[in-house]
Amino acid sequence: QEDIFKKLVAHCKEYGYVFQSSEIYDGLGAVYDYGQMGVELKNNIKKYWWDSMVLLHENVVGLDSAIFMHPTIWKASGHVDAFNDPLIDNKDSKKRYRADVLIEDQLAKYEEKMNKEVAKAAKRFGDAFDEKQFRETNPRVLANQEKWNTLHTRFSDALNDNNLAGLKQIIEDEGIVCPISGSRNWTDVRQFNLMFATEMGSTAEGASKIFLRPETAQGIFVNYLNVQKTGRMKIPFGIAQIGKAFRNEIVARQFIFRMREFEQMEMQFFVRPGSELDWFEKWKETRMKWHRALGFGDENYRFHEHEKLAHYANAAVDVEYKFPFGFKEVEGIHSRTDFDLSQHEEYSGKKIRYYDPELGESYVPYVVETSIGVDRMFLQVISASYCEEQLEKDTRVVLKLPPVLAPVKLAVMPLVKKDGLPEKAREIIDELKFDFNCQYDEKDSIGKRYRRQDAIGTPFCVTVDHQSAEDNTVTIRYRDTMEQERVAIADLGKIIGEQVSY
Ligand code: ATP
Repeated sequence: QEDIFKKLVAHCKEYGYVFQSSEIYDGLGAVYDYGQMGVELKNNIKKYWWDSMVLLHENVVGLDSAIFMHPTIWKASGHVDAFNDPLIDNKDSKKRYRADVLIEDQLAKYEEKMNKEVAKAAKRFGDAFDEKQFRETNPRVLANQEKWNTLHTRFSDALNDNNLAGLKQIIEDEGIVCPISGSRNWTDVRQFNLMFATEMGSTAEGASKIFLRPETAQGIFVNYLNVQKTGRMKIPFGIAQIGKAFRNEIVARQFIFRMREFEQMEMQFFVRPGSELDWFEKWKETRMKWHRALGFGDENYRFHEHEKLAHYANAAVDVEYKFPFGFKEVEGIHSRTDFDLSQHEEYSGKKIRYYDPELGESYVPYVVETSIGVDRMFLQVISASYCEEQLEKDTRVVLKLPPVLAPVKLAVMPLVKKDGLPEKAREIIDELKFDFNCQYDEKDSIGKRYRRQDAIGTPFCVTVDHQSAEDNTVTIRYRDTMEQERVAIADLGKIIGEQVSY
């Protein structure tokens, strides 16, 4: 699985999906650029999200707030004081780690051991295998389950109490070693704020320290009344936003899974106090449906309840996807109570209450948010789509992207570079290019061209041959089945349109 992950990182680079930032200067840690294919996939992901939120929900509208905001906003939101990661250094390797991530990895190790035992037994017993019974009786599984339970309880307690010494103690007791040096020589655990700061204004004017936003949500909170009043929105209503966020992540690893500059798609849903947990359940369900609608297999998604609730939340859950390196968060759904809006009332000194005409009273709304990283979703989509297939004579690498997300929808290829076929191919493109991203390809054999399109995930290849000039038909080849059929050029728009729309 790790091997597959390495291959897909290399694939992303080779086909213009993702490049390391500043590569010719040896790169910049945990910052990435999107190439010619990557930017298209990213845009399609954003559109898929935006349309599902803003077009499909009458009571959800959009916003695009600035990255720079008044510094007091981050004081009010709690980010200045509490947006921290617990860090620990290994004294021998001089490497820095997140203490909580080291412990999560240890939990994952116990889980992995249990899963290995189960997989071994499943192979041995075949159809007769009863997994539940095996897990409840096998001594090796039980021993690891016991270790997992004990560690999980201690970990949750330490997180809930913000007990840094407790985290250190766990790392010592579990004998967790530095992944680089193998040493157990750890420093104490301390807090590290994740916000990037910069200065606004020249020194002569008196510069002030401002932050690059670590989430887009606060731009929505401070604008919620502007939108509510000018849009005549009635509670319950939502505001959706897509934009960059910045976090000085310490454990920056796993490619674009954790970056220092990334993009979020967030939606804050404003509701009556007391109704937030019902809405939380509704959005949980809606968001899971959205993920599963892409067709990557329901079994690859699960909910994960938080070990520790953030300072603003009264309920929180993650949507996790089974990446090649295990189940990991793709999206967070949080019931943020009235925390943020109340804090902004207090710090700004302005009333930001909503007058509820049905109740005849004013209140600070409660908020349920859905928050997903564009880049993490990108990695999820690429991980789920990457396939190596054994064919009769050779192998092919194919990105089985859902057609709606694929960067290039169709490639149009003249069989040969003469006899008017290139001109015919261009005519087809000129007809379709307003609706679909098309690529013209005449180089190399048809077989090689198909492989190239498979590798970038193009769902349809259209080949123009001599018959096309006579009867205005072409062959259309489907990426996943590799089947081909002869169709009228006039029908192409309809055939492709049906598969790439939602
Ligand atoms: P994690 O536990 O992975 O650090 P988080 O719980 O801090 O994430 P949230 O603050 O809930 O994440 O952010 C919402 C979403 O934004 C996440 O589900 C993820 O998709 C995305 N995200 C957060 N941090 C990063 C990052 N450093 N790089 C890429 N995406 C991120």
